[in-house]
Amino acid sequence: MKFRCVCDTVIYDQTDFLPWKATYIADEDKQAMMEELDAAMDMYLQARADPDMHERWHRQVYPVEAGFRDAPRVVLTSVLWDIVGAYERRFYQCETCGRLWLWDGTLLTAFKPEAPETSTTLLASMKPPPAV
Ligand SMILES: [Zn+2]
Repeated sequence: MKFRCVCDTVIYDQTDFLPWKATYIADEDKQAMMEELDAAMDMYLQARADPDMHERWHRQVYPVEAGFRDAPRVVLTSVLWDIVGAYERRFYQCETCGRLWLWDGTLLTAFKPEAPETSTTLLASMKPPPAV
């Protein structure tokens, strides 16, 4: 995805780790998402204890062609990402004018900062960059 801000800056979303992009989860959805994650991990742990159940779990949550199998941890990670992804929505901040753009999957909605001194890096990582 890419789009043009009102200020004429083009905002790109064509790779990972973008400092002008973040995701959000509605507070009304957070509990349900956490319960789904908990259920998925519980199902995985139960399946790990029983080889037959593990085989069924693998086929149920991650149907793949015969002969191809990922490590169970990789499958679980994929399941967890899918659950989180189903709840996430994206937003972007223009690095030039600071507008926030919320994407709900069908519509971009812009919010203009009231103060000109508003930071234009509000969505950048809170963690310091890794040491080189
Ligand atoms: Zn802008």
